Amino acid sequence: MSVTIRHSAEFKRRILIISSNQENRDALTRILSCEYDIDCVSGGAEALKRYSETTAYALNILDLDLPDMNAYAFIGKFRSLERVGRIPIIAIMARTGSEARTLRAGAADFIRKPFQEEVILARCDRIIDLSVDQSLIRRAQDDELTGLYNREFFFEYVRQIEQNLENPVQDAVVINIEHFHLVNELYGRQFGDQVLRRLADAIRKMKAQMESIACRTDADSFYIYCKHQPDYEEIVRDLVRDMGSFSGSKHIRLRVGIYQNVDPMGEPEVWFDRAKKACDLIREDYTRNISYYDSKLYERTIYEEKLIRDIHDAINENRIIVYYQPKFDITGENPRLCGAEALVRWAHPEFGIIAPDDFIPLFEKNGLILKLDRFVWTQVARQVRIWRETYNISIPVSVNVSHIDIYDENLVDGFRTMIEENGLEPSMMHLEITESAYAEDSDRLLSVVNELRQLGFLIEMDDFGTGYSSLNMLSVLPLDVIKLDREFIRNMGRNEKGARMVELVLDVARFLKVPCIAEGVESEEEYSVLRKMNCDIIQGYYFSHPLTLAAFDCFLEKELRCSKRYTS
Ligand code: C2E
Ligand code: MG
Ligand code: MG
Repeated sequence: MSVTIRHSAEFKRRILIISSNQENRDALTRILSCEYDIDCVSGGAEALKRYSETTAYALNILDLDLPDMNAYAFIGKFRSLERVGRIPIIAIMARTGSEARTLRAGAADFIRKPFQEEVILARCDRIIDLSVDQSLIRRAQDDELTGLYNREFFFEYVRQIEQNLENPVQDAVVINIEHFHLVNELYGRQFGDQVLRRLADAIRKMKAQMESIACRTDADSFYIYCKHQPDYEEIVRDLVRDMGSFSGSKHIRLRVGIYQNVDPMGEPEVWFDRAKKACDLIREDYTRNISYYDSKLYERTIYEEKLIRDIHDAINENRIIVYYQPKFDITGENPRLCGAEALVRWAHPEFGIIAPDDFIPLFEKNGLILKLDRFVWTQVARQVRIWRETYNISIPVSVNVSHIDIYDENLVDGFRTMIEENGLEPSMMHLEITESAYAEDSDRLLSVVNELRQLGFLIEMDDFGTGYSSLNMLSVLPLDVIKLDREFIRNMGRNEKGARMVELVLDVARFLKVPCIAEGVESEEEYSVLRKMNCDIIQGYYFSHPLTLAAFDCFLEKELRCSKRYTS
Protein backbone atom coordinates (compact mmCIF):
# COMPACT_ATOMS: atom_id res chain seq x y z
CA MET A 1 0.00 0.00 0.00
CA SER A 2 3.01 2.31 -0.23
CA VAL A 3 2.27 5.40 -2.29
CA THR A 4 5.15 7.81 -2.79
CA ILE A 5 3.41 10.92 -4.05
CA ARG A 6 6.40 12.81 -2.62
CA HIS A 7 8.56 12.02 -5.64
CA SER A 8 6.05 12.80 -8.29
CA ALA A 9 7.13 15.68 -10.52
CA GLU A 10 3.70 17.37 -10.51
CA PHE A 11 3.23 17.20 -6.81
CA LYS A 12 5.77 18.63 -4.40
CA ARG A 13 4.91 18.25 -0.74
CA ARG A 14 5.13 21.18 1.67
CA ILE A 15 6.94 21.35 5.01
CA LEU A 16 6.37 23.91 7.77
CA ILE A 17 9.44 24.92 9.78
CA ILE A 18 8.52 26.34 13.19
CA SER A 19 11.56 28.15 14.55
CA SER A 20 12.58 31.70 15.48
CA ASN A 21 16.22 30.88 14.85
CA GLN A 22 17.15 32.33 11.44
CA GLU A 23 20.21 30.13 11.15
CA ASN A 24 18.08 26.97 11.59
CA ARG A 25 15.49 28.16 9.12
CA ASP A 26 18.09 28.95 6.44
CA ALA A 27 19.99 25.70 6.85
CA LEU A 28 16.89 23.51 6.74
CA THR A 29 15.41 25.41 3.80
CA ARG A 30 18.63 24.88 1.87
CA ILE A 31 18.69 21.16 2.60
CA LEU A 32 15.03 20.42 1.98
CA SER A 33 13.99 22.73 -0.84
CA CYS A 34 15.35 20.39 -3.52
CA GLU A 35 12.52 17.97 -2.69
CA TYR A 36 9.96 20.02 -0.81
CA ASP A 37 8.28 23.41 -0.74
CA ILE A 38 9.18 25.12 2.50
CA ASP A 39 7.32 27.66 4.66
CA CYS A 40 8.65 29.11 7.90
CA VAL A 41 6.93 30.58 10.96
CA SER A 42 8.70 31.84 14.03
CA GLY A 43 6.56 30.56 16.90
CA GLY A 44 3.80 28.24 18.13
CA ALA A 45 1.01 30.79 17.93
CA GLU A 46 1.87 31.65 14.35
CA ALA A 47 1.96 27.94 13.43
CA LEU A 48 -1.47 27.32 14.95
CA LYS A 49 -2.82 30.35 13.10
CA ARG A 50 -1.36 29.02 9.85
CA TYR A 51 -3.11 25.70 10.40
CA SER A 52 -6.42 27.44 10.94
CA GLU A 53 -6.03 28.70 7.36
CA THR A 54 -4.56 25.70 5.57
CA THR A 55 -4.07 21.95 5.86
CA ALA A 56 -1.50 21.82 3.09
CA TYR A 57 1.55 20.54 5.03
CA ALA A 58 2.94 17.03 4.98
CA LEU A 59 5.32 17.59 7.89
CA ASN A 60 6.28 20.04 10.66
CA ILE A 61 9.85 20.62 11.78
CA LEU A 62 9.64 22.09 15.25
CA ASP A 63 12.37 23.92 17.15
CA LEU A 64 11.94 22.96 20.81
CA ASP A 65 13.13 26.45 21.80
CA LEU A 66 9.98 28.31 20.95
CA PRO A 67 9.91 32.00 21.85
CA ASP A 68 6.22 32.16 22.74
CA MET A 69 5.22 28.86 24.33
CA ASN A 70 6.46 25.62 25.77
CA ALA A 71 7.19 23.25 22.86
CA TYR A 72 5.50 20.26 24.59
CA ALA A 73 2.39 22.32 25.21
CA PHE A 74 2.46 23.24 21.53
CA ILE A 75 2.70 19.58 20.48
CA GLY A 76 -0.25 18.67 22.73
CA LYS A 77 -2.34 21.50 21.37
CA PHE A 78 -1.45 20.71 17.78
CA ARG A 79 -2.25 17.01 18.18
CA SER A 80 -5.73 17.83 19.39
CA LEU A 81 -6.55 19.87 16.28
CA GLU A 82 -9.20 18.33 14.07
CA ARG A 83 -8.13 17.29 10.56
CA VAL A 84 -4.48 18.43 10.88
CA GLY A 85 -3.53 17.01 14.29
CA ARG A 86 -2.13 13.87 12.68
CA ILE A 87 0.41 15.70 10.48
CA PRO A 88 3.76 14.46 11.83
CA ILE A 89 6.25 16.56 13.76
CA ILE A 90 10.06 16.21 13.71
CA ALA A 91 11.71 18.03 16.62
CA ILE A 92 15.04 19.89 16.42
CA MET A 93 17.00 18.86 19.49
CA ALA A 94 19.64 21.29 20.63
CA ARG A 95 20.62 19.19 23.65
CA THR A 96 20.60 15.53 24.51
CA GLY A 97 18.49 14.15 27.34
CA SER A 98 14.94 14.98 26.33
CA GLU A 99 14.55 12.54 23.41
CA ALA A 100 12.18 10.17 25.19
CA ARG A 101 10.02 13.00 26.49
CA THR A 102 9.83 14.53 23.03
CA LEU A 103 8.74 11.29 21.40
CA ARG A 104 6.24 10.61 24.17
CA ALA A 105 4.77 14.08 23.73
CA GLY A 106 3.86 13.11 20.19
CA ALA A 107 6.83 13.95 17.95
CA ALA A 108 7.44 11.32 15.28
CA ASP A 109 11.21 11.72 15.25
CA PHE A 110 14.00 14.21 16.00
CA ILE A 111 17.06 15.69 14.29
CA ARG A 112 20.17 17.16 15.82
CA LYS A 113 22.55 19.97 15.16
CA PRO A 114 24.86 20.24 13.35
CA PHE A 115 22.46 19.31 10.58
CA GLN A 116 23.56 16.44 8.38
CA GLU A 117 21.98 16.88 4.99
CA GLU A 118 21.57 13.19 4.08
CA VAL A 119 20.21 12.21 7.49
CA ILE A 120 17.66 15.03 7.55
CA LEU A 121 16.38 14.30 4.05
CA ALA A 122 16.14 10.59 4.77
CA ARG A 123 14.23 11.20 8.04
CA CYS A 124 11.79 13.63 6.47
CA ASP A 125 11.15 11.26 3.56
CA ARG A 126 10.58 8.31 5.85
CA ILE A 127 8.26 10.10 8.27
CA ILE A 128 6.14 11.46 5.42
CA ASP A 129 5.94 8.03 3.80
CA LEU A 130 4.85 6.46 7.07
CA SER A 131 2.19 9.06 7.64
CA VAL A 132 0.82 8.70 4.09
CA ASP A 133 0.64 4.93 4.50
CA GLN A 134 -1.00 5.29 7.86
CA SER A 135 -3.66 7.63 6.58
CA LEU A 136 -4.34 5.33 3.63
CA ILE A 137 -4.73 2.40 5.97
CA ARG A 138 -7.00 4.49 8.17
CA ARG A 139 -9.09 5.50 5.18
CA ALA A 140 -9.40 1.89 4.04
CA GLN A 141 -10.50 0.69 7.44
CA ASP A 142 -12.56 3.61 8.70
CA ASP A 143 -16.03 4.81 7.99
CA GLU A 144 -15.30 8.41 7.07
CA LEU A 145 -18.31 9.95 8.77
CA THR A 146 -18.02 8.32 12.19
CA GLY A 147 -14.42 7.13 12.41
CA LEU A 148 -15.65 3.63 13.33
CA TYR A 149 -14.50 0.73 11.15
CA ASN A 150 -16.14 0.16 7.82
CA ARG A 151 -18.01 -3.08 7.16
CA GLU A 152 -15.29 -4.95 5.23
CA PHE A 153 -12.57 -4.19 7.71
CA PHE A 154 -14.87 -4.99 10.62
CA PHE A 155 -15.68 -8.50 9.41
CA GLU A 156 -12.04 -9.18 8.65
CA TYR A 157 -11.08 -8.01 12.13
CA VAL A 158 -13.84 -10.09 13.76
CA ARG A 159 -12.45 -13.19 12.02
CA GLN A 160 -8.95 -12.45 13.29
CA ILE A 161 -10.11 -11.86 16.87
CA GLU A 162 -12.13 -15.05 16.77
CA GLN A 163 -9.09 -17.03 15.64
CA ASN A 164 -6.94 -15.62 18.40
CA LEU A 165 -9.33 -16.02 21.32
CA GLU A 166 -8.89 -19.22 23.24
CA ASN A 167 -12.45 -19.80 24.45
CA PRO A 168 -14.49 -17.15 22.74
CA VAL A 169 -17.80 -16.24 24.39
CA GLN A 170 -18.82 -13.31 22.31
CA ASP A 171 -21.97 -11.41 21.34
CA ALA A 172 -23.07 -9.80 18.09
CA VAL A 173 -25.05 -6.59 18.53
CA VAL A 174 -26.84 -4.54 15.88
CA ILE A 175 -28.07 -1.03 16.62
CA ASN A 176 -30.39 0.71 14.21
CA ILE A 177 -32.01 4.13 14.17
CA GLU A 178 -35.72 3.78 13.50
CA HIS A 179 -36.91 5.58 10.36
CA PHE A 180 -33.56 7.25 9.84
CA HIS A 181 -34.57 8.47 6.40
CA LEU A 182 -37.31 10.45 8.11
CA VAL A 183 -34.81 12.00 10.50
CA ASN A 184 -32.89 13.17 7.44
CA GLU A 185 -36.00 14.41 5.73
CA LEU A 186 -37.52 16.18 8.71
CA TYR A 187 -34.41 17.76 10.20
CA GLY A 188 -31.93 17.80 7.32
CA ARG A 189 -28.96 15.65 6.36
CA GLN A 190 -26.60 17.68 8.50
CA PHE A 191 -28.57 16.82 11.62
CA GLY A 192 -28.74 13.20 10.41
CA ASP A 193 -24.94 13.14 10.20
CA GLN A 194 -24.68 14.61 13.70
CA VAL A 195 -26.94 11.86 15.03
CA LEU A 196 -24.74 9.19 13.44
CA ARG A 197 -21.56 10.76 14.85
CA ARG A 198 -23.06 11.08 18.30
CA LEU A 199 -24.18 7.48 18.33
CA ALA A 200 -20.73 6.42 17.12
CA ASP A 201 -19.15 8.40 19.98
CA ALA A 202 -21.44 6.74 22.48
CA ILE A 203 -20.53 3.32 21.07
CA ARG A 204 -16.84 4.22 21.29
CA LYS A 205 -17.30 5.07 24.97
CA MET A 206 -18.69 1.60 25.63
CA LYS A 207 -15.65 0.03 23.99
CA ALA A 208 -13.46 -0.41 27.01
CA GLN A 209 -16.23 -1.78 29.20
CA MET A 210 -17.42 -4.27 26.61
CA GLU A 211 -14.07 -5.12 24.97
CA SER A 212 -15.66 -4.49 21.64
CA ILE A 213 -15.03 -3.40 18.09
CA ALA A 214 -17.65 -1.60 16.03
CA CYS A 215 -18.52 -0.52 12.53
CA ARG A 216 -21.23 1.42 10.73
CA THR A 217 -23.03 -0.12 7.80
CA ASP A 218 -26.11 0.63 5.63
CA ALA A 219 -26.15 4.29 6.67
CA ASP A 220 -27.83 3.89 10.04
CA SER A 221 -26.86 0.44 11.33
CA PHE A 222 -24.04 -0.13 13.78
CA TYR A 223 -22.52 -3.55 14.38
CA ILE A 224 -20.71 -4.33 17.62
CA TYR A 225 -18.73 -7.49 18.30
CA CYS A 226 -17.99 -7.75 22.01
CA LYS A 227 -17.26 -9.91 24.97
CA HIS A 228 -20.43 -11.62 26.17
CA GLN A 229 -22.50 -9.31 28.35
CA PRO A 230 -24.97 -10.99 30.68
CA ASP A 231 -27.18 -7.91 30.81
CA TYR A 232 -27.74 -5.28 28.15
CA GLU A 233 -30.51 -3.34 29.91
CA GLU A 234 -28.24 -0.78 31.51
CA ILE A 235 -25.94 -0.47 28.50
CA VAL A 236 -28.86 0.25 26.18
CA ARG A 237 -30.53 2.54 28.73
CA ASP A 238 -27.36 4.66 28.81
CA LEU A 239 -27.22 4.77 25.02
CA VAL A 240 -30.86 5.80 24.76
CA ARG A 241 -30.38 8.45 27.44
CA ASP A 242 -27.32 9.82 25.68
CA MET A 243 -29.13 10.09 22.34
CA GLY A 244 -32.13 11.61 24.10
CA SER A 245 -30.08 14.34 25.74
CA PHE A 246 -28.50 15.09 22.37
CA SER A 247 -31.60 15.16 20.22
CA GLY A 248 -34.00 16.82 22.68
CA SER A 249 -37.47 17.15 21.22
CA LYS A 250 -36.39 15.63 17.91
CA HIS A 251 -37.16 12.11 18.98
CA ILE A 252 -34.60 9.50 17.91
CA ARG A 253 -35.52 5.88 18.56
CA LEU A 254 -32.87 3.19 18.80
CA ARG A 255 -33.51 -0.49 18.16
CA VAL A 256 -30.98 -2.99 19.47
CA GLY A 257 -30.82 -6.61 18.30
CA ILE A 258 -28.54 -9.02 20.14
CA TYR A 259 -27.29 -12.50 19.30
CA GLN A 260 -25.58 -13.75 22.46
CA ASN A 261 -22.88 -16.42 22.63
CA VAL A 262 -22.36 -16.55 18.91
CA ASP A 263 -21.71 -19.96 17.46
CA PRO A 264 -17.89 -20.04 17.04
CA MET A 265 -18.21 -22.55 14.20
CA GLY A 266 -20.45 -20.20 12.22
CA GLU A 267 -19.70 -17.25 9.97
CA PRO A 268 -19.57 -13.70 11.38
CA GLU A 269 -21.95 -12.49 8.65
CA VAL A 270 -24.53 -15.02 9.86
CA TRP A 271 -24.15 -13.88 13.49
CA PHE A 272 -24.90 -10.32 12.51
CA ASP A 273 -27.77 -11.37 10.23
CA ARG A 274 -29.26 -13.02 13.28
CA ALA A 275 -28.75 -9.98 15.49
CA LYS A 276 -30.30 -7.90 12.71
CA LYS A 277 -33.30 -10.23 12.55
CA ALA A 278 -33.84 -9.67 16.26
CA CYS A 279 -33.44 -5.95 15.69
CA ASP A 280 -35.99 -5.93 12.84
CA LEU A 281 -38.47 -7.74 15.01
CA ILE A 282 -39.04 -4.59 17.10
CA ARG A 283 -39.44 -2.26 14.15
CA GLU A 284 -42.41 0.00 14.97
CA ASP A 285 -42.70 -1.62 18.41
CA TYR A 286 -42.37 1.39 20.65
CA THR A 287 -42.64 -0.59 23.88
CA ARG A 288 -39.06 -1.89 23.83
CA ASN A 289 -35.58 -1.14 22.55
CA ILE A 290 -33.93 -4.53 22.94
CA SER A 291 -34.64 -7.78 21.19
CA TYR A 292 -32.69 -11.04 21.53
CA TYR A 293 -32.17 -13.69 18.91
CA ASP A 294 -33.71 -16.80 20.48
CA SER A 295 -34.94 -20.27 19.58
CA LYS A 296 -38.20 -18.90 18.17
CA LEU A 297 -36.27 -16.66 15.83
CA TYR A 298 -33.98 -19.55 15.01
CA GLU A 299 -36.97 -21.64 13.93
CA ARG A 300 -38.26 -18.71 11.92
CA THR A 301 -34.85 -18.43 10.22
CA ILE A 302 -34.94 -22.09 9.25
CA TYR A 303 -38.51 -21.70 7.99
CA GLU A 304 -37.53 -18.68 5.90
CA GLU A 305 -34.54 -20.52 4.48
CA LYS A 306 -36.89 -23.28 3.34
CA LEU A 307 -39.21 -20.75 1.72
CA ILE A 308 -36.32 -19.18 -0.14
CA ARG A 309 -35.14 -22.59 -1.26
CA ASP A 310 -38.62 -23.65 -2.45
CA ILE A 311 -39.93 -20.57 -4.21
CA HIS A 312 -38.52 -21.35 -7.66
CA ASP A 313 -40.06 -24.82 -7.72
CA ALA A 314 -43.30 -23.39 -6.33
CA ILE A 315 -43.58 -21.03 -9.29
CA ASN A 316 -42.79 -23.79 -11.79
CA GLU A 317 -45.22 -26.21 -10.17
CA ASN A 318 -48.11 -23.73 -9.91
CA ARG A 319 -48.10 -23.74 -6.16
CA ILE A 320 -48.21 -19.96 -6.12
CA ILE A 321 -51.92 -19.32 -6.36
CA VAL A 322 -53.72 -16.09 -7.07
CA TYR A 323 -56.88 -15.43 -5.07
CA TYR A 324 -59.34 -12.72 -6.06
CA GLN A 325 -61.24 -10.55 -3.62
CA PRO A 326 -64.22 -8.69 -5.09
CA LYS A 327 -64.60 -4.94 -4.77
CA PHE A 328 -68.05 -3.37 -4.70
CA ASP A 329 -69.13 0.04 -5.86
CA ILE A 330 -71.65 1.29 -3.27
CA THR A 331 -72.46 4.67 -4.76
CA GLY A 332 -75.66 3.42 -6.46
CA GLU A 333 -78.81 2.00 -5.03
CA ASN A 334 -77.44 -1.56 -4.93
CA PRO A 335 -73.84 -2.57 -4.43
CA ARG A 336 -72.27 -3.44 -7.77
CA LEU A 337 -69.23 -5.62 -8.40
CA CYS A 338 -66.68 -3.26 -9.90
CA GLY A 339 -63.39 -5.13 -9.74
CA ALA A 340 -61.17 -7.37 -7.66
CA GLU A 341 -57.82 -7.39 -5.93
CA ALA A 342 -55.38 -10.18 -6.72
CA LEU A 343 -53.91 -11.62 -3.50
CA VAL A 344 -51.30 -14.31 -3.60
CA ARG A 345 -51.16 -17.50 -1.53
CA TRP A 346 -48.64 -20.32 -1.51
CA ALA A 347 -49.83 -23.93 -1.41
CA HIS A 348 -46.73 -25.39 0.22
CA PRO A 349 -46.35 -29.20 0.37
CA GLU A 350 -44.97 -29.08 3.93
CA PHE A 351 -46.63 -26.01 5.47
CA GLY A 352 -50.03 -25.93 3.75
CA ILE A 353 -51.53 -22.64 2.52
CA ILE A 354 -49.20 -19.80 3.45
CA ALA A 355 -50.49 -16.22 3.65
CA PRO A 356 -48.54 -13.49 1.86
CA ASP A 357 -47.54 -11.67 5.04
CA ASP A 358 -45.35 -14.70 5.75
CA PHE A 359 -43.28 -14.53 2.59
CA ILE A 360 -43.73 -11.14 0.85
CA PRO A 361 -41.60 -9.16 3.36
CA LEU A 362 -38.97 -11.93 3.20
CA PHE A 363 -38.82 -11.83 -0.60
CA GLU A 364 -38.74 -8.06 -0.54
CA LYS A 365 -35.54 -8.32 1.48
CA ASN A 366 -33.75 -10.61 -0.95
CA GLY A 367 -35.21 -9.41 -4.24
CA LEU A 368 -37.14 -12.60 -5.02
CA ILE A 369 -40.28 -10.47 -4.95
CA LEU A 370 -39.49 -9.34 -8.51
CA LYS A 371 -39.92 -12.85 -9.84
CA LEU A 372 -42.94 -13.62 -7.67
CA ASP A 373 -44.81 -10.43 -8.54
CA ARG A 374 -44.09 -10.80 -12.24
CA PHE A 375 -45.58 -14.28 -12.05
CA VAL A 376 -48.72 -13.03 -10.27
CA TRP A 377 -49.25 -10.10 -12.66
CA THR A 378 -48.89 -12.37 -15.69
CA GLN A 379 -51.49 -14.75 -14.28
CA VAL A 380 -53.82 -11.84 -13.61
CA ALA A 381 -53.47 -10.31 -17.09
CA ARG A 382 -54.21 -13.71 -18.62
CA GLN A 383 -57.21 -14.20 -16.35
CA VAL A 384 -58.72 -10.80 -17.17
CA ARG A 385 -58.50 -11.77 -20.86
CA ILE A 386 -60.13 -15.15 -20.15
CA TRP A 387 -63.04 -13.50 -18.28
CA ARG A 388 -63.53 -11.14 -21.17
CA GLU A 389 -63.53 -14.03 -23.64
CA THR A 390 -65.75 -16.28 -21.48
CA TYR A 391 -68.31 -13.84 -20.08
CA ASN A 392 -67.88 -10.88 -22.35
CA ILE A 393 -67.20 -8.65 -19.36
CA SER A 394 -64.38 -6.37 -18.31
CA ILE A 395 -63.39 -6.80 -14.68
CA PRO A 396 -60.49 -4.57 -13.72
CA VAL A 397 -58.16 -6.31 -11.31
CA SER A 398 -55.72 -4.57 -9.06
CA VAL A 399 -52.35 -6.12 -8.38
CA ASN A 400 -49.99 -5.28 -5.56
CA VAL A 401 -46.74 -3.64 -6.62
CA SER A 402 -44.02 -3.89 -4.00
CA HIS A 403 -41.83 -0.89 -3.29
CA ILE A 404 -38.95 -3.09 -4.46
CA ASP A 405 -40.57 -3.51 -7.89
CA ILE A 406 -40.31 0.24 -8.37
CA TYR A 407 -36.54 -0.13 -8.74
CA ASP A 408 -36.87 -2.75 -11.49
CA GLU A 409 -35.64 -1.18 -14.73
CA ASN A 410 -38.02 -3.41 -16.74
CA LEU A 411 -41.14 -2.66 -14.71
CA VAL A 412 -42.89 -0.34 -17.16
CA ASP A 413 -41.99 -2.43 -20.20
CA GLY A 414 -43.11 -5.57 -18.41
CA PHE A 415 -46.59 -4.16 -17.72
CA ARG A 416 -46.85 -2.86 -21.28
CA THR A 417 -45.99 -6.28 -22.71
CA MET A 418 -48.44 -8.09 -20.40
CA ILE A 419 -51.27 -5.83 -21.51
CA GLU A 420 -50.40 -6.07 -25.20
CA GLU A 421 -50.01 -9.83 -25.19
CA ASN A 422 -53.51 -10.24 -23.77
CA GLY A 423 -55.16 -7.55 -25.88
CA LEU A 424 -56.17 -5.53 -22.80
CA GLU A 425 -56.40 -1.83 -22.13
CA PRO A 426 -54.04 -0.65 -19.37
CA SER A 427 -57.05 0.57 -17.37
CA MET A 428 -57.97 -3.09 -16.83
CA MET A 429 -55.04 -3.45 -14.46
CA HIS A 430 -54.91 -1.25 -11.41
CA LEU A 431 -51.62 -1.03 -9.59
CA GLU A 432 -51.66 -0.91 -5.80
CA ILE A 433 -48.66 0.80 -4.29
CA THR A 434 -48.46 1.06 -0.54
CA GLU A 435 -48.41 4.56 0.86
CA SER A 436 -45.08 4.18 2.64
CA ALA A 437 -43.34 3.50 -0.70
CA TYR A 438 -44.07 7.10 -1.63
CA ALA A 439 -41.81 8.29 1.18
CA GLU A 440 -38.79 6.14 0.28
CA ASP A 441 -37.20 7.49 -2.84
CA SER A 442 -39.92 9.70 -4.09
CA ASP A 443 -38.11 10.85 -7.22
CA ARG A 444 -37.80 7.32 -8.56
CA LEU A 445 -41.34 6.43 -7.55
CA LEU A 446 -42.81 9.57 -9.05
CA SER A 447 -41.12 9.08 -12.39
CA VAL A 448 -42.14 5.39 -12.61
CA VAL A 449 -45.71 6.09 -11.53
CA ASN A 450 -46.04 9.00 -13.95
CA GLU A 451 -44.83 6.82 -16.80
CA LEU A 452 -47.32 4.08 -15.93
CA ARG A 453 -50.19 6.56 -15.66
CA GLN A 454 -49.29 8.04 -19.01
CA LEU A 455 -49.66 4.56 -20.48
CA GLY A 456 -53.15 4.40 -18.95
CA PHE A 457 -52.63 2.29 -15.82
CA LEU A 458 -54.55 3.40 -12.73
CA ILE A 459 -52.64 3.81 -9.48
CA GLU A 460 -54.23 2.96 -6.15
CA MET A 461 -52.50 4.18 -3.03
CA ASP A 462 -52.73 1.13 -0.76
CA ASP A 463 -52.89 1.09 3.04
CA PHE A 464 -53.57 4.80 3.12
CA GLY A 465 -53.01 6.20 6.60
CA THR A 466 -50.15 3.86 7.52
CA GLY A 467 -47.45 5.77 5.62
CA TYR A 468 -46.23 9.25 6.16
CA SER A 469 -47.66 11.33 3.33
CA SER A 470 -48.23 14.86 4.42
CA LEU A 471 -51.46 16.45 3.24
CA ASN A 472 -49.34 18.89 1.35
CA MET A 473 -47.55 16.08 -0.53
CA LEU A 474 -50.80 14.29 -1.32
CA SER A 475 -52.01 17.08 -3.55
CA VAL A 476 -49.06 16.62 -5.89
CA LEU A 477 -48.73 12.82 -5.82
CA PRO A 478 -49.82 10.96 -8.92
CA LEU A 479 -52.65 8.65 -7.84
CA ASP A 480 -56.10 7.66 -9.04
CA VAL A 481 -57.61 5.91 -6.02
CA ILE A 482 -57.08 5.96 -2.26
CA LYS A 483 -57.40 2.68 -0.37
CA LEU A 484 -58.15 3.38 3.24
CA ASP A 485 -56.28 0.96 5.51
CA ARG A 486 -58.46 -1.46 7.41
CA GLU A 487 -57.25 -0.18 10.79
CA PHE A 488 -59.40 2.90 10.16
CA ILE A 489 -62.44 0.70 9.69
CA ARG A 490 -61.64 -1.15 12.93
CA ASN A 491 -61.34 2.13 14.83
CA MET A 492 -64.50 3.50 13.26
CA GLY A 493 -66.63 1.25 15.44
CA ARG A 494 -64.58 1.89 18.59
CA ASN A 495 -65.25 5.56 19.17
CA GLU A 496 -66.41 8.78 17.67
CA LYS A 497 -62.87 9.91 16.91
CA GLY A 498 -62.38 6.81 14.77
CA ALA A 499 -65.51 7.53 12.74
CA ARG A 500 -64.49 11.16 12.36
CA MET A 501 -61.08 10.07 11.01
CA VAL A 502 -62.75 8.06 8.26
CA GLU A 503 -64.86 11.07 7.34
CA LEU A 504 -61.71 13.18 7.17
CA VAL A 505 -60.01 10.75 4.79
CA LEU A 506 -63.11 10.67 2.62
CA ASP A 507 -62.98 14.47 2.54
CA VAL A 508 -59.33 14.31 1.47
CA ALA A 509 -60.24 11.89 -1.35
CA ARG A 510 -63.06 14.18 -2.49
CA PHE A 511 -60.71 17.15 -2.38
CA LEU A 512 -58.24 15.23 -4.57
CA LYS A 513 -61.17 14.19 -6.81
CA VAL A 514 -60.32 10.48 -6.53
CA PRO A 515 -62.52 7.61 -5.33
CA CYS A 516 -61.89 6.02 -1.95
CA ILE A 517 -61.90 2.26 -1.33
CA ALA A 518 -62.51 1.09 2.23
CA GLU A 519 -60.55 -2.11 2.91
CA GLY A 520 -61.42 -4.73 5.49
CA VAL A 521 -65.14 -4.03 5.84
CA GLU A 522 -66.52 -6.95 7.79
CA SER A 523 -69.91 -6.06 9.20
CA GLU A 524 -73.29 -4.82 8.08
CA GLU A 525 -72.87 -1.87 10.45
CA GLU A 526 -69.51 -0.84 8.98
CA TYR A 527 -70.99 -1.13 5.53
CA SER A 528 -73.98 1.11 6.28
CA VAL A 529 -71.91 3.74 8.10
CA LEU A 530 -69.54 3.93 5.11
CA ARG A 531 -72.45 4.14 2.75
CA LYS A 532 -73.87 7.06 4.73
CA MET A 533 -70.49 8.74 4.59
CA ASN A 534 -70.53 8.42 0.79
CA CYS A 535 -67.58 6.07 0.54
CA ASP A 536 -67.25 4.91 -3.08
CA ILE A 537 -66.02 1.34 -3.02
CA ILE A 538 -65.86 -1.43 -0.43
CA GLN A 539 -63.64 -4.48 -0.18
CA GLY A 540 -63.90 -6.87 2.72
CA TYR A 541 -65.25 -10.03 4.28
CA TYR A 542 -68.69 -8.42 4.48
CA PHE A 543 -69.04 -9.07 0.76
CA SER A 544 -66.49 -11.80 0.29
CA HIS A 545 -63.21 -13.25 1.47
CA PRO A 546 -60.45 -13.54 -1.15
CA LEU A 547 -61.55 -16.44 -3.39
CA THR A 548 -59.83 -19.12 -5.41
CA LEU A 549 -60.25 -18.74 -9.13
CA ALA A 550 -62.92 -21.43 -9.25
CA ALA A 551 -64.85 -19.80 -6.40
CA PHE A 552 -64.51 -16.36 -7.97
CA ASP A 553 -65.87 -17.76 -11.24
CA CYS A 554 -68.96 -19.00 -9.39
CA PHE A 555 -69.28 -15.66 -7.65
CA LEU A 556 -69.02 -13.91 -10.98
CA GLU A 557 -71.61 -16.08 -12.65
CA LYS A 558 -74.01 -15.46 -9.76
CA GLU A 559 -73.44 -11.73 -10.03
CA LEU A 560 -73.96 -11.87 -13.77
CA ARG A 561 -77.26 -13.68 -13.36
CA CYS A 562 -78.42 -10.93 -11.00
CA SER A 563 -77.25 -8.10 -13.16
CA LYS A 564 -76.32 -7.66 -16.77
CA ARG A 565 -74.49 -4.43 -16.18
CA TYR A 566 -70.91 -5.42 -16.80
CA THR A 567 -70.93 -5.98 -20.50
CA SER A 568 -67.96 -4.44 -22.23
P1 C2E B 1 -53.22 -5.52 1.04
O1 C2E B 1 -52.81 -5.27 -0.35
O2 C2E B 1 -53.55 -4.36 1.88
O3 C2E B 1 -54.43 -6.54 0.94
C1 C2E B 1 -55.53 -6.52 1.77
C2 C2E B 1 -55.43 -7.55 2.83
O4 C2E B 1 -56.55 -7.46 3.69
C3 C2E B 1 -55.43 -8.97 2.29
O5 C2E B 1 -54.64 -9.75 3.14
C4 C2E B 1 -56.87 -9.38 2.46
O6 C2E B 1 -57.07 -10.77 2.51
C5 C2E B 1 -57.19 -8.73 3.76
N1 C2E B 1 -58.61 -8.47 3.93
C6 C2E B 1 -59.52 -8.19 3.00
N2 C2E B 1 -60.74 -8.00 3.56
C7 C2E B 1 -60.59 -8.15 4.88
C8 C2E B 1 -61.48 -8.08 5.99
O7 C2E B 1 -62.67 -7.80 5.89
N3 C2E B 1 -60.96 -8.27 7.22
C9 C2E B 1 -59.65 -8.56 7.39
N4 C2E B 1 -59.20 -8.77 8.62
N5 C2E B 1 -58.78 -8.66 6.37
C10 C2E B 1 -59.24 -8.44 5.12
P2 C2E B 1 -53.67 -10.83 2.54
O8 C2E B 1 -54.28 -11.48 1.36
O9 C2E B 1 -53.20 -11.68 3.66
O10 C2E B 1 -52.47 -9.94 2.01
C11 C2E B 1 -51.67 -9.23 2.90
C12 C2E B 1 -50.77 -8.29 2.17
O11 C2E B 1 -49.81 -9.00 1.40
C13 C2E B 1 -51.49 -7.42 1.16
O12 C2E B 1 -52.10 -6.35 1.81
C14 C2E B 1 -50.36 -7.00 0.28
O13 C2E B 1 -49.64 -5.94 0.84
C15 C2E B 1 -49.48 -8.22 0.28
N6 C2E B 1 -49.71 -8.99 -0.95
C16 C2E B 1 -50.69 -9.89 -1.23
N7 C2E B 1 -50.53 -10.38 -2.47
C17 C2E B 1 -49.44 -9.78 -3.01
C18 C2E B 1 -48.75 -9.87 -4.26
O14 C2E B 1 -49.12 -10.60 -5.20
N8 C2E B 1 -47.64 -9.10 -4.41
C19 C2E B 1 -47.21 -8.26 -3.42
N9 C2E B 1 -46.10 -7.52 -3.67
N10 C2E B 1 -47.83 -8.14 -2.27
C20 C2E B 1 -48.93 -8.90 -2.03
MG1 MG C 1 -53.34 -4.22 -1.83
MG1 MG D 1 -54.10 -2.62 1.84
